[in-house]
Amino acid sequence: MQNIIEKANQHLVQTVKRFPIVWDKGDGCYLYDTNGKKYLDFYSGIAVSCLGYNNTRYNEALKNQIDKLIQTSNLFYNAPAIEAATRLCKLAGLERIFFTNSGTEAVEGALKAARKYAYLRDGKTHHEIIAMNRSFHGRTMGALAVTGTESYRTPFEPLIGLIKFADFNDFQSVLDCVTEDTCAIILEPVQAEGGIYPAEPDFIKNIRKLCDEKDILLIFDEVQCGMGRTGTMFAYEQYGVKPDIMTLAKALGGGVPVGALLMSERVSANSFKAGDHNTTYGGNPFATIAINTVLDIFEETDILNNVKQMAEYLEQNLDKLVAKYDMIVSRRGKGLIQGLECREPVADILTKALEKGLVVISAGPNVIRFVPPLIIGKDQIDEMIQILEGCI
Ligand code: PLP
Repeated sequence: MQNIIEKANQHLVQTVKRFPIVWDKGDGCYLYDTNGKKYLDFYSGIAVSCLGYNNTRYNEALKNQIDKLIQTSNLFYNAPAIEAATRLCKLAGLERIFFTNSGTEAVEGALKAARKYAYLRDGKTHHEIIAMNRSFHGRTMGALAVTGTESYRTPFEPLIGLIKFADFNDFQSVLDCVTEDTCAIILEPVQAEGGIYPAEPDFIKNIRKLCDEKDILLIFDEVQCGMGRTGTMFAYEQYGVKPDIMTLAKALGGGVPVGALLMSERVSANSFKAGDHNTTYGGNPFATIAINTVLDIFEETDILNNVKQMAEYLEQNLDKLVAKYDMIVSRRGKGLIQGLECREPVADILTKALEKGLVVISAGPNVIRFVPPLIIGKDQIDEMIQILEGCI
């Protein structure tokens, strides 16, 4: 491992701080490093590997598709993409979809669609977008512009302009940002990177009402909290409202890089026209067969039921830790996206956990984040709690 890490340090652009581990393979909810050490996975490649690792059905589907066709571009049609489009639109209750290759690109598309919608409506440019403090939407210039952590944005200014930040779960602060020129409000129904904060039902309902009254588009970024992670296919289903635009990625492809931007017929008919937006790889048959297979396996294994049951068990066990250890302040989350807020930075706990064969990551300096594969079982939750307690 040391050899590989040394080479990596010479050649990789140092954009992130890495843990000193080289992954070799995975199986179920376990990962193995190149020294053969086994780790229990509670991070899923940052909320991506929803089926865990080495799922035979998934692997076979991808291998078959590789032998048939990998890339076509959007200049033509391919059957896996159209099947994925049909299924996702039906699941989301939104009529139109555009496939991307990552979450940040889905967010870029959402922001562009909102600006185009407002432009066609008023014939003016310079429309404003309201985003949330503590949010995370990606690292490209548009997605970064609506990301609520100032230190991520500052070195790259000017980003796209006319963004205002409101406080999450504070409706008045959203109202204070609204002007005649507001074209969209973007938020994560469960703020993930910002520290695992679920939206309060009234906050979401009030924003939906405001958007309807003022013809403002409501964008839900479900890149991290979508695809079954909260116990429903999309987190917004639990709030009794629907967005005008939704972004997906991460678990969407079960590991293959793919994202999507969904929108209502009304938004689609009144925003992008041919030539406004595209990406070379978007909707390629390899990535979209991955989506179809994830959806097949979700259905066949009733994954949402597992998420609900395991979430309850995980919550109970995390709550016991909150009661037992003074250094843990609280638990927050929905389904299998949970966070433990601690009184001090959790970096040492994460490092100790790795030594003991558990992978957990943080969401901000003081929050331990739990985003296991959605196939996780009770035994693995018990194992995780036992290892974690040894680290606290
Ligand atoms: N939106 C949310 C809510 C995310 O959590 C992330 C990544 O963590 C993104 C967007 C960006 O996705 P990607 O890293 O695939 O570009």
